[in-house]
Amino acid sequence: MSAVVQSIAVNAAEQELTDGFHLIIDALKLNGLNTIYGVPGIPITDFGRMAQAEGIRVLSFRHEQAAGYAASIAGYLTKKPGVCLTVSAPGFLNGLTALAHATTNCFPMILISGSSEREIVDLQQGDYEEMDQLAIAKPLCKAAFRVLHAQDIGIGLARAIRAALSGRPGGVYLDLPAKLFGQVMDADAGQKSLVKVIDAAPAQIPAPDSIRRALDVLKSAKKPLIILGKGAAYAQADDAIKALVETSGIPFLPMSMAKGLLPDTHPQCAGAARSTVLKDSDVVMLIGARLNWLLSHGKGKAWGDAPKKFIQIDIEPKEMDSNVEIVAPVVGDIGSCVTALLDGMSKTWQKPSADWTGTVSKKRDENVSKMAPKLMNNNSPMDYHGALGVLRTIIAERPDAILVNEGANTLDLARGIVDMYKPRKRIDVGTWGIMGIGMGYCIAAAVETGKPVLAIEGDSAFGFSGMEVETICRYNLPVCIVVFNNDGIYRGTDVNPTGGPDVAPTVFVKGARYDKMMEAFGGVGVNVTSPDELKRAVNAAMDSGKPTLINAVLDPAAGSESGRIGNLNPQSVLKKK
Ligand code: ADP
Ligand code: MG
Repeated sequence: MSAVVQSIAVNAAEQELTDGFHLIIDALKLNGLNTIYGVPGIPITDFGRMAQAEGIRVLSFRHEQAAGYAASIAGYLTKKPGVCLTVSAPGFLNGLTALAHATTNCFPMILISGSSEREIVDLQQGDYEEMDQLAIAKPLCKAAFRVLHAQDIGIGLARAIRAALSGRPGGVYLDLPAKLFGQVMDADAGQKSLVKVIDAAPAQIPAPDSIRRALDVLKSAKKPLIILGKGAAYAQADDAIKALVETSGIPFLPMSMAKGLLPDTHPQCAGAARSTVLKDSDVVMLIGARLNWLLSHGKGKAWGDAPKKFIQIDIEPKEMDSNVEIVAPVVGDIGSCVTALLDGMSKTWQKPSADWTGTVSKKRDENVSKMAPKLMNNNSPMDYHGALGVLRTIIAERPDAILVNEGANTLDLARGIVDMYKPRKRIDVGTWGIMGIGMGYCIAAAVETGKPVLAIEGDSAFGFSGMEVETICRYNLPVCIVVFNNDGIYRGTDVNPTGGPDVAPTVFVKGARYDKMMEAFGGVGVNVTSPDELKRAVNAAMDSGKPTLINAVLDPAAGSESGRIGNLNPQSVLKKK
């Protein structure tokens, strides 16, 4: 060996080194990202091991999509980006659905995927799991970055965090080629290259003019309405929102995931008078809610003939006028906007007339009492109302529990029937009405909040992520899953019109026992056929905190096509009767 090479070797031995693996871990920890949801495999297996060894909580799933949904809702619940880690090509694509979901729902999330070598991928020479992941991710997320050099890891992660959290939150893709992990550099220089992101979601103060304009429109209203969306829940400006609603005296309508921001039992809650307030209101103030399909785009039959004026509070300026004219756009973060509105309401603020608030509460009380007897039935097999009646009581008694909800009828009916009492306790299918979020959400909700979780799942919806019950058992999470089992999609009574051996496309195995799945992994499985049994089983599960799956046998004829959105199904003019 030559003298020169020898002296380099001696220096290298003395010099403290770090590598890509450790720099990524250090960068995550420096930014308080202490939990990773993912599935191990090439090239990120060792990374997961090392991250765990360095004190990061690494939760391994059975499918990347469920891990991704977990990361997305972790972002919503904590206002920090949820991190999902996957392998290349197929693992990346599995995680991508969740990244797109996070972006659509305005949840901050970072999907980190290992990828194959650029040189081979770009020449399309057929590498192991070859795919140009960055290009594919780009249109489906808010931002996408690739890091090629170890010294850029700090900046790469900082950009990902800022992109996910600032302005309208969303999903960010971070591409880490296999080679990066093993790249070595001087440890000191490595530490210095890391970035601790300061004020990742800076307050965005609304223009004073926009506040005055909004208050003027609000003052002119005879029948005002406030609609609270999941952006308002995400913002964690709970006290300010409560103060604004109560000071204004205006009835409010919570969107699905905004339920509980103020209790559904609040005297101003118009949840049970939804159709009336949409139709009859004259000024509507949207707070962190979009006028998308979930609000019939702000026009048409659901909104009635009364002329409407819209005020909209949102962090995203481009959201304004997206569906109808917004006469008073208020652009800024919800905390700052709501506080400014509150400050602008003079001591002489006139609450809406008793005529309007009285009409709303009368309608609400009528609807609530119409529903009440249905919720008390003890039919066996159960119908939706009997089953949801007991779950409604359980949530009233355990308002800290997190409710996960997906399905068709199971979703629509639970949303209407189960009252929520605290902010961010109801998490569901979101803007896309996606099926498959269930188990990922349960896991993240339990991990991030430490609270017990109750999942109300349609049997079909549950199937999309059902294998994750093993994950729930493995980490021994306080999750109680209730599967509303009516033998099929929408219901279990369809027949094959040809009389052939295949069942109808919407029908599952009759009398399936989902509870046995939980038992297979050491959890508690219970089969229940009446609301009384359901109540006992859920209470036992919530008391014990043991992973539990309750197979709730529903009448196969219970349930309507597509729940409440059957109108979105195209109809064939040729369809017979
Ligand atoms: P929902 O489905 O409950 O109606 P949406 O997802 O349609 O709610 O709307 C949420 C809105 O909230 C989005 O337009 C988003 O830009 C906005 N948003 C999210 N976070 C904030 C925030 N911190 N401040 C202001 N607006 C926000
Ligand atoms: Mg079903």
